[in-house]
Parts: sequence; structure tokens; C-alpha cells
Amino acid sequence: MVGPAAVPEIGPDDALVRVALAGLCGTDYRIWSGDRPVSYPLIMGHEFVGRVEAVGGNVQHLQVGQRVVAEPNYSCGRCPLCLEGNRNLCPRRTTVGIDVDGAFADLARLPAKCCWPVADSVSDDEAVIAEPLAVVVRAVNRVSPKPHETAAVVGAGTLGLLALQVLRASGARVLVVSRSTRRFALARELGAGETHAVADGPLDAVARRFSGREGVDLVVETAGTADAVNHAVSLVRPGGRIVLTGLPHEPTTLSFFPVVRHEITIVGSMIYQDEFPQALGLLEAGRVRTGPLLTHRFDLDGIDAAFAAHREPDSIKVTVAPPGLR
Ligand SMILES: [Zn+2]
Ligand SMILES: [Zn+2]
Repeated sequence: MVGPAAVPEIGPDDALVRVALAGLCGTDYRIWSGDRPVSYPLIMGHEFVGRVEAVGGNVQHLQVGQRVVAEPNYSCGRCPLCLEGNRNLCPRRTTVGIDVDGAFADLARLPAKCCWPVADSVSDDEAVIAEPLAVVVRAVNRVSPKPHETAAVVGAGTLGLLALQVLRASGARVLVVSRSTRRFALARELGAGETHAVADGPLDAVARRFSGREGVDLVVETAGTADAVNHAVSLVRPGGRIVLTGLPHEPTTLSFFPVVRHEITIVGSMIYQDEFPQALGLLEAGRVRTGPLLTHRFDLDGIDAAFAAHREPDSIKVTVAPPGLR
């Protein structure tokens, strides 16, 4: 148990946000467990919704009291990558809650340009998903699904279940592939045409049956393991597209024979560039359901329990709220 953090001072281009609800993800867990070193001390938390408490003197587009979600990454704006629009790839990118203090607190400071106003019709429980949803929106856009195409999602965690819904919104039919059957009922409820456990038989045969041709048109890989990359290659048809969103931390053994022979396109997707408006639009339109994904909620004082819950097999998205706001 620690005492309250000091109120952050804001600069002329900053906003101070009173946190209503924050999400916890695998990145947070890796920081929490010491797997990913950061500069200490650090207030973690990068997925959040709250109300603007104060703004700096230069800030025009935000009002005090307005509800916003945070886009927790900002770039230098001056390097060649930033200037060509690839700000997600900026070598000097800063992440709120990783490089600077974040949202596991009552108040969070961030550049005002990182605050996206949220429509009244979008609840905090929906808005708190905006950040991972923006990640998924970019990934799906990278493989440009067309209506009536078939897609496979590898992994049925938060990102996988969001990818499923974003693909459904684009009109694609979706096969969900996972190591465990645990989320399959939910995946079907969220629009999966079919679900398949990796252990239950060869993926290429399943993809052929589901697609009615040589394999699915596109695959969104969300599991971030070496196996998952291989599964994606097994599922996709010749000429198909694969986008990788998970970050395999171990070296990945992959046969490039089918990649060449079948002209498979494999692209990576890193966070987001300009996808927050599209993510918020999907929430506003009710195309993405977040309720079933928010499995656990804790007071900020119970952050230990929140991280323990994150590791539970039955948890999908764990959220924390400052005490008194539950
Ligand atoms: Zn995250
Ligand atoms: Zn830059």
C-alpha cells in the first residue's frame, strides 16, 4: 500500500485527466513482474478513460469536465519517420504509463493532443477498450478485408476477440483459432462463424473447409507466439495476407517455403497511427461489444489482486478504478 501520488503539474500543451477506469494488459504485467525494465519509480497504466480536470494555456480543443480516452503514445514529430506519417515507428516515441507516469492513479498528465473526446453514448466500460481496439483496427486495416472474404483470428484474448468483431464489422466471415476452447462460446456469441482448437486437427484442412477454397483470405495473428505465426501460415490461402500483432519475444522458427511458393504477404502492425477515431466510431456504432471482455474490476488499492487476476485463465480484460469510483 502506498500513499497518494502528488498531483502532476501540467505544461502549456498538457491536459490533466481524472481517471475513471483503466485497463491492464500484458505489457503492464511484464513491467510489474520486472520482465520489462523501466525507469523507476513509475506510475503505470496506459489504457484509460477519464474526465479533463485541467488544461494548459495553449490547449484549445478540450474543455474541463469533458470525457476523454487517452492515446498513450506520442512521437517526436520531427524525425523522418514522423514526417512521413509513420509516427508509431518513431525511435523517440514516448508511452504514457511506460516511459512517463500513467493512469494507475487518480490523476494522469498527458499531452492534450493525446486526448480523444468520447461521445456520451459510449460508456466508460466501452471507452476503456479504445486503446487496444485502435491497435486491432490498424492491424485489420493492414490486411484490408473485403466483404465476403474469409478471415482467421489466431488467439482469443482481448486482441483476438476485438479483431473478430472488427473483421465482422468489415463483412468478413471469421474463424477463431486458439490453443484453448475456453473462449469459444464467447467468440461465437461475438460473431465467429467457427472456432477451432489447435490440438483438434490440422489447421490447413479446417481453413479449407471454412473458406470453401484453399484457405482463408487473411489471418490476424494476436497470440504473439512462434507457434501462432506458423498457425497463421497454415491457415492462409495462396496469395493471402497475414498481419502479426503479437510480439513474439522468442526467436520464431518458420518455414519460408510456403511464403514464397504461395506468395503469402506477411506484415507487422505496431500500435496505431491515426486509428483512434475509427476505434471510437466502432464503439459509438455498437459494432464492438466490450462488456463480455471486462471480466474483472478492482479498486486501485487492490492492484496486486488485479495483476493476479490478469494471470487467471478465465480473465480477459482486468480493469482498475480509483477508490470511490467503483
Ligand atoms: Zn496495453
Ligand atoms: Zn519521430
